[in-house]
Amino acid sequence: MSLYPVDLHSHTTASDGTHTPTQLVERAVQRGLRVLGIADHDTVDGLAEAQTAAEQFGLEIVPAIEFSTRIERAKHFVGIHLLGYFINPTHPTLNEIIGKIRQGRIDQKIKQIELLQSFGFAITVEDVFATVTGVPGRPHIAAVLMEKNPEKFQTIQQIFDEYLGANKKAHVGREFVLTVGEAIELVKQIGGVSVLAHPGAYSSEIDPIVAVRNAKAEGVQGVEVFYPYHQKHQASNSTMPFISQIENLADELNLLKSGGTDFHGRPNEEADLGDMGLTNQQFAVFRQGWQEKLVKPEM
Ligand SMILES: [Zn+2]
Ligand SMILES: [Zn+2]
Repeated sequence: MSLYPVDLHSHTTASDGTHTPTQLVERAVQRGLRVLGIADHDTVDGLAEAQTAAEQFGLEIVPAIEFSTRIERAKHFVGIHLLGYFINPTHPTLNEIIGKIRQGRIDQKIKQIELLQSFGFAITVEDVFATVTGVPGRPHIAAVLMEKNPEKFQTIQQIFDEYLGANKKAHVGREFVLTVGEAIELVKQIGGVSVLAHPGAYSSEIDPIVAVRNAKAEGVQGVEVFYPYHQKHQASNSTMPFISQIENLADELNLLKSGGTDFHGRPNEEADLGDMGLTNQQFAVFRQGWQEKLVKPEM
C-alpha cells in the first residue's frame, strides 16, 4: 500500500513513462490510491484512456500536463517544468499549442540528425523515426547512432557526453517553447491551476527559492512542495529540510501546495506511486484553491 492516498504527478507512455495509461491506473489501484494526477510532458494523449480505465475502479484522475519552458537565466528559470492541473484536455487553444510544441520537437530532431550526418556518422531521419510511435527524443537518436556506428561508440552516455548533451556538438535548441509566464497564462486560460514543478530538482545554476518567487511574480498559483528529493536535492545553505523550506515559502507567498512522486515506472526509480503525495485533507485544500482561483475558461 502507498503512504499517501493522492499522488498528483505521474507519467505514461504518452510521454516518457513505461506504463500505458491503463497499466498506470491498475498500478495506482493496487497501491491503494484514491486520486492520481497524470501529467505527461507537453501532451494530454494519455488522459482519455486513463479516465476510462479509472472509472470502473472509482479512482479519480486529475487531468494535468507538464510543460517544458524556455530558459530565462536572469529569472532563474532554467529547464523549469510548469504543471497545469484540472485542465480541460480538449480545449482548442491547448491543442493548438501542443501541436506547435510537437512540430518544434520534430524539426529539432531532424536538424540534430542532419548535424550528425555532417560529422560523418551513418544515421538517417528515417532510421530514427522508424523506432518511435510518437515524437522522437534524444535517446532514440542515440540508440540508432550506437547501433549503426558500433565501431565509434562504446556507450550511450558517451554519445550524450560528446554530441547530444546540452551544448555538445549536435545540440540544437527547440523552435517553439513557452516561457514560464506563457505556460502559466495558458493553464489559466484552459481552466486549470498552474504549479511550479519540483523546485529542488533543477540545474545547480538556479536558486530554487528565487525561481519560486519569480514564478509567483509571473502569476503562478501553486508549487509542488511534496516531492521525493531524497538527500541529494536538499538545499545546502539550510539545515531545515528542503521540503519544509518550500512549504514555508508557499505559505508566505499564498501558493497552493501540490505533491507527487513523478513516477515514470523506470526500473531504478526509488519512489513508487503514492510514496510521496498529499493527504486527503491537503488535496481538498488544493482542489478548493483551484475552484477559488478558477478563471472561467474561454472557448
Ligand atoms: Zn518535471
Ligand atoms: Zn514529471
